[in-house]
Amino acid sequence: MKEQIQAQFKQRFGTDSVVYASAGRINLIGEHTDYNGGFVFPGAIDKYIMAAININGTDKVRVLSMDMDAYCEFGLNEEDAPQEQWARYIFGVCRETIKRGGVVKGFDTVFAGNVPLGAGLSSSAALESCFAFALNDLFNDNKIDKFELAKIGQSTEHNYCGVNCGIMDQFASVFGKKDCLMRLDCRSLEHEYFPFHPDGYKLVLLNSKVKHELVDSPYNKRRESCERVAATLGVETLRDATYTMLADVRDKVSDEDYRRARFVIGEKQRVLDVCDALERGDYETVGRCMFETHDGLSRDYEVSCEELDYLNDVARECGVTGSRIMGGGFGGCTINLVKEERYDNFIATAKEKFNRKYGHEPEVINVIISDGAHKVED
Ligand code: ADP
Ligand code: MG
Repeated sequence: MKEQIQAQFKQRFGTDSVVYASAGRINLIGEHTDYNGGFVFPGAIDKYIMAAININGTDKVRVLSMDMDAYCEFGLNEEDAPQEQWARYIFGVCRETIKRGGVVKGFDTVFAGNVPLGAGLSSSAALESCFAFALNDLFNDNKIDKFELAKIGQSTEHNYCGVNCGIMDQFASVFGKKDCLMRLDCRSLEHEYFPFHPDGYKLVLLNSKVKHELVDSPYNKRRESCERVAATLGVETLRDATYTMLADVRDKVSDEDYRRARFVIGEKQRVLDVCDALERGDYETVGRCMFETHDGLSRDYEVSCEELDYLNDVARECGVTGSRIMGGGFGGCTINLVKEERYDNFIATAKEKFNRKYGHEPEVINVIISDGAHKVED
């Protein structure tokens, strides 16, 4: 990809360029835990946004998106915001860097990527992190710390793209390290790396390509349930709750709220269990926890859907080590940890059965845990 982008750059702008990249991400386990002060467990993947960049000595940014086959120019003041959605991510990163006292001057860039869009792998965070990292290197002597780079991406989503996201995606994209997953404590924002090199297994996502639009904002309802139970328990968030505490208030909360909280409490523990298992290289336990998460999301938290439950059932039938919904739910991907010798049969079976039932095949996305934002050296 690097050579292609640099060649395009040369053709368009006539100069050499420096290349930066950042990655999409998966989250192995830890779902709906962020707003409960719990843990998430993401890693960067071998799917990137890559950008060739050169300073142009003007006060304008000139951008060519190879994938959109589109060109855009904008200034660096607030009123210069471009109309094109894809360009707003880059404009937003420039603006958020400037707002934090960072330096941004005019530059030319050509960029492209292979993070699937809207599949739950956070192509937008990859895009933001790529440019946040690049602007830090080009104009700021790398003085902006990495966590701030992640926040620049997050604020871009909030202020320029209308997406009210948490910090996980940008964190993973900036901090990602080859063969490592990262446990991010959503309360303290501390993080820790854990080894993830599942020799003899593959990590594969199956994108159901369905997205159920729901009318009654289920996400907010889940949050409200969690907040109600936390209030009943007298704790700030469910991070501080245990099964025993929950059992004590069983008759003070609705059955629905009880089940929501049961999932969240279990999920916090599962992240910790998976981290312990990885320290031992015990991928069978990792897989078991993934299945438990799926069951919890499906039955207690009720954010699954027929198609994802079906993919999960097929995974079980095919002897997959671990499988679960990844992301907020109601559609999108399952993430699967599968022994190499079972991989071919699993993929063929999932494609065939899903197609027969739902009229299209799931998209197969193999991932390897890789480095996050970086300069691409020659
Ligand atoms: P995701 O879950 O993948 O982050 P989003 O809807 O948040 O989905 O972000 C997708 C948007 O990010 C695209 O609509 C586009 O504006 C931008 N984007 C992502 N990848 C690219 C790319 N390779 N080229 C141009 N724009 C991209
Ligand atoms: Mg996104």
